[in-house]
Amino acid sequence: MTTLDHCQELDAKDPLRTLKDQFILPPGVIYLDGNSLGVLPKATAARVAEVVTQEWGVGLIRSWNTAGWFESPQKAGNKIAKLIGANAGEVVATDTTSINLYKVLSAALNIAAADSPTRKLIVSERSNFPTDLYIAEALCQERGYTLKLVEPDEIAASLTADVAILMLTHVNYRTGSMHDMATVTQAAHAASILTVWDLAHSAGAVPVDLTSAKADFAIGCGYKYLNGGPGAPAFVWVNTKHTERFWQPLAGWWGHATPFEFTPDYRPAPGVNRYLCGTQPIINMAALDCGLDVYMAAEAFGGMAALRIKSLALTDLFIELVQERCVGFGIGLATPLAHAQRGSQVCLTREHGAGLEGSSGAFAIVQALIARGVIGDYRVGDGLAHKDIMRFGFTPLYIGFEDVWHAVEHLRQVLVSEEWKRPEFNQKHAVT
Ligand SMILES: *Cc1c(COP(=O)(O)O)cnc(C)c1O
Repeated sequence: MTTLDHCQELDAKDPLRTLKDQFILPPGVIYLDGNSLGVLPKATAARVAEVVTQEWGVGLIRSWNTAGWFESPQKAGNKIAKLIGANAGEVVATDTTSINLYKVLSAALNIAAADSPTRKLIVSERSNFPTDLYIAEALCQERGYTLKLVEPDEIAASLTADVAILMLTHVNYRTGSMHDMATVTQAAHAASILTVWDLAHSAGAVPVDLTSAKADFAIGCGYKYLNGGPGAPAFVWVNTKHTERFWQPLAGWWGHATPFEFTPDYRPAPGVNRYLCGTQPIINMAALDCGLDVYMAAEAFGGMAALRIKSLALTDLFIELVQERCVGFGIGLATPLAHAQRGSQVCLTREHGAGLEGSSGAFAIVQALIARGVIGDYRVGDGLAHKDIMRFGFTPLYIGFEDVWHAVEHLRQVLVSEEWKRPEFNQKHAVT
């Protein structure tokens, strides 16, 4: 049996334990939702105040040049590039994940239409994040394509001669299961299919190597593992072999080759800069930069490789403790046990009917945990398996092994006491 002492020993031996000091973590909270909204880095508040009072308040319009505002998408992009196996100059931080997906998927469709006009399908996973499916569906309608949704084990067989694009989220937002990017990309390319990868649950969570995987397009999120703050700019990466073949559809002036010549005709900027559209949210960009700086500091401790070792140790420990200490409450596991298939989160399941009024009780259990300061989240199941999901993200930058112990102990107490059955834990809010 795993003990609290053992968890404390793991913390004492953890080479990354001091990174936690770079964040403000509210007392009494074990935050297992960094996969949804990352925590606040210590540097952010002062930096944002500086941008507001000095760069904006005093520098005013001069700050576009003097404070480096204009280059901030590239500056943040170069830091992100290091986390996802891209080169400097290949990534820009900009817009939202949804908008960036629209841009890269449109560009990928343009390339597919030019190279293989008879291919009319976009393939994705049925359990992909909804915004990805909605954006793809809208583009399909606009351009006369069809979105084909398959289960994970059907992907290989779905790479047929009528498919233009394979659009996948690398780490599934609900189950935490991870695709082998290199193998899937290779299979897609062997069938002349382009790949679009969503790294929302990968960037800063698991090592990613877009270059060696020979991926075609990638996008990702700034406010999850990258700790950029609510609504932080997202990012775009495009394989250099594709960047200059087409414009992206939101061809705004920030993506122009010479925006300050104010010419009436559009000439796209070279490289990934053409994926910028309009004026960027500079205050949010400054906050994102602070989040990224923690990752730059983590390089001294082994960077993403070391973070991955700790992340797997944390998720292994959580699974082990749940399986040892929360037996007999109908708790299942949706996250793969194989390390190669696991992101940085663990999803526990409950069957429909295990809770009140035919529900799974998963929502209420999560609410009871939040009331105890253990913040994870709830996601409805996919309807097919008759299960709902309790999702726990483990961010190795600031979560320790003792935190994992206490989180599972709270879960055990919530289950044993049945406090999740209280009415206040069974009421839904606008955002779950
Ligand atoms: C979080 C997430 C998004 C978020 O998109 P926004 O445009 O920031 O709302 C998109 N895709 C995936 C896979 C996500 O996990």
